[in-house]
Amino acid sequence: MVMTDIERSAAAPSESVDLLNIVQQHFDQAAELLDLPARLRGILRVPQRELTVNFPVKRDSGRIEVFQGFRVQHNLARGPTKGGIRYHPNVTLDETRALAMLMTWKCALAGLPYGGAKGAVIVDPKQLSVGEIERLTRRFATEISVVIGPERDIPAPDVGTNPQVMAWIMDTISMHQGHTVPAVVTGKPINIGGSEGRREATGRGLTYVLTAAAHHLGLNISDIRLAIQGCGNVGSTVAREAVALGMKVIALSDSRGGVYNPHGLDIEAILAHKAHTGSVVGAVNADSLTNEELLEVECDVLVPAALSGVITAQNAGRIRAQIVAEAANGPTTKAADAILYDRGCLVIPDILANAGGVTVSYFEWVQGLQEFFWSEREVNTQLRRVMTNALQQVLRVSAERQVDLRTASYMLAVQRVADAVTTRGIYP
Ligand code: GLU
Repeated sequence: MVMTDIERSAAAPSESVDLLNIVQQHFDQAAELLDLPARLRGILRVPQRELTVNFPVKRDSGRIEVFQGFRVQHNLARGPTKGGIRYHPNVTLDETRALAMLMTWKCALAGLPYGGAKGAVIVDPKQLSVGEIERLTRRFATEISVVIGPERDIPAPDVGTNPQVMAWIMDTISMHQGHTVPAVVTGKPINIGGSEGRREATGRGLTYVLTAAAHHLGLNISDIRLAIQGCGNVGSTVAREAVALGMKVIALSDSRGGVYNPHGLDIEAILAHKAHTGSVVGAVNADSLTNEELLEVECDVLVPAALSGVITAQNAGRIRAQIVAEAANGPTTKAADAILYDRGCLVIPDILANAGGVTVSYFEWVQGLQEFFWSEREVNTQLRRVMTNALQQVLRVSAERQVDLRTASYMLAVQRVADAVTTRGIYP
């Protein structure tokens, strides 16, 4: 999600909270440490392809409205590009570029044979009827059909989209082709070729990494208290999985505010309250707190699972968690990263912590192409293997090079993509 003006003003004047800027700064630092040749930096610092589309949609009233959307493919060297489609009223082309770049590093870090991409439509889906969302989706899918496909670029859900939206995209592309093309998107409903465990994959993958990181730090799992900002698909899954592992979730929020109980929240009761009222706010057996207060709660693990740019130089000094596990893409500014590092807080970066979603998307794509489907247990076993391997590799580089986990993650990912570009050579 993008930032509101209130959150934007929380950053120090000289501090960039612009996601593209943040992501490029991380890249520049990794490129420097890797001593990457200038020609490779020039290639990898910017997206390879960008498509902007303006397209009409008929509203229920009969009025025609024109919407703007994007599909950005950052780098194609390691395989077809992969990444979600976001529906949000404040999304921009620059933000989509940043998110596409993050997908390149995320896929490379997890060892998936993909490049990175991202799509977006500037729209508030909450203001549209189901029929309007379907028409918008089918027309957007048609507009970007010139660049997507099972061997080219494979969309998936992101902020503001869901499995139903993926089903409409898959159906639209299939109608154009004249036959069913399941592998053109992932995150589909299970009855039309989706994977078991995909819906939970991002949150579950994060808890796998978190558990391994806690072991690394010598923390006792049942002593861990979490504060989770955001209660969408990812935040709610992290909450459920953490409780199932014996951890306590002491704070949880959504866009309207949060709830807090230092003895542990009743997550199922809160999620039922949210399903009923639309928000966690007002759930029983909990005090209320704001999204800003949630970040500064006394806890062991902080999970930002909503907005980008929420942890800034202004509040990083007051964060009391020992671990920050980034479920959202880009929640921490570069200045905040340095403050957290100096305070001994372990930041598990987005491209590692939230890679579970795209990892199970890869499993879904493979299952679809082979038309051979796995059990949820099989999916979870493979997901745990990928996530813990990635963490071990990152911890090794972090120790060898004396850098934080984000820098180590970028170094590993950027090197892999740079190697692929080098091996393939420059055409013509
Ligand atoms: N939108 C998710 C992400 O940011 C998943 C992308 C995918 O599954 O392709 O990682």
